[in-house]
Amino acid sequence: MRKRDQFKWRRGWTLAEVLTVVLIVIVLMAIAMPAFQNGMSASRQSACRANMQALANAEEQYRRQSATHAYTTQVSALSKEAAGVPVCPDGGTYTITISNGTATAQNGQTVPQGGLVISCSIGSHGKFAPGIDTP
Ligand SMILES: [Zn+2]
Repeated sequence: MRKRDQFKWRRGWTLAEVLTVVLIVIVLMAIAMPAFQNGMSASRQSACRANMQALANAEEQYRRQSATHAYTTQVSALSKEAAGVPVCPDGGTYTITISNGTATAQNGQTVPQGGLVISCSIGSHGKFAPGIDTP
């Protein structure tokens, strides 16, 4: 015949055991969090650069269809070609400039006169010069 007290130890966890588990979870989160945040940041930057590529494609379409066959520096003018103006995932705004021959691309090369440079107001997202930079 079994005594009731024989299985008393199965009723729950001690405070020390629970605290140990919580401590281990906290240490694992502290290790994983920076890598996770870096990955998220890289992902948002990548999405932003894809938006810049989309704006560059919209510029080409705009240029072909406009009466003057010129690029525009107005991002809002591309809403038809870009199917709505793309939005930076970090809330940055896009600026389109037409190179005067001295502008530089993200990779450091000079953008020839008349070439496009699309940049994001979030500095780490950089800029994109179609035909010179890779997205
Ligand atoms: Zn951006």
